[in-house]
Amino acid sequence: MPAQDESTARRQIAEVAREIYGRKLSGASDGNLSVRLTNGTFATTPSGVHKGRMRPEDVVIVDAAGKTIGGGKPSSELALHLAAYQARPDVNAVIHGHPPMAIAYQLAGGKLSEVLVSEVVFACGLIATAPYSTPTTLQVPEVLGPYLRCYDVMLMERHGSVTLGPDLDTALVRLDALEHTALIYCTVKMMGGAQPIPPHEVDHLFALAKPQTPLYRQAGAGCPAPEPQEPVDERLVQAVLAALGRR
Ligand SMILES: [Zn+2]
Repeated sequence: MPAQDESTARRQIAEVAREIYGRKLSGASDGNLSVRLTNGTFATTPSGVHKGRMRPEDVVIVDAAGKTIGGGKPSSELALHLAAYQARPDVNAVIHGHPPMAIAYQLAGGKLSEVLVSEVVFACGLIATAPYSTPTTLQVPEVLGPYLRCYDVMLMERHGSVTLGPDLDTALVRLDALEHTALIYCTVKMMGGAQPIPPHEVDHLFALAKPQTPLYRQAGAGCPAPEPQEPVDERLVQAVLAALGRR
């Protein structure tokens, strides 16, 4: 779906913001969403307005540099949204949410990139988790940049989600699917865990889900791994070196 005209985008943003709050995919003042407009500017949620009470007239219009053209102060993660539009010409809507089960699962050491249920592949593709960056700073788009280029659904460590789409409905469906998947994964973890779907069947699902291989599954695409690399355990390294020294 192409970019939206301003009045449609204002109405959609207010509706989706209320829905996100109503379904507890973000707190009242958390998260933000935006839509690419046909004239090359962007409509986004304002800073500090209750998501459950958002009105079309509250929506802020900014240019590609983030300068406000109409309305009040834009959301605090605007730089993240603009980085997504710059990286992905196919993306016309961005939602940053704070989905509680997805955040909890990541905090508990769960890997959302594991494919435990088939539907996640169709709704989200591969769910990536980007390393921690300080919210509302330019560190967020800097750290998330390589992920935005490669994935449609991302979690930022100890913070929240980013879902992209060709339109706002798709970005919302992906946020909803992320949280629903995390609810299943959290529950199964509490019940003792489950084995992932075997790799050959995951390949089959991806082949069914998308006619073309997504970027993150293409060799040489330069995409970051979907999970942050585990930090090297220095004590283990020293123990190995000491053992080698004794040989
Ligand atoms: Zn946030």
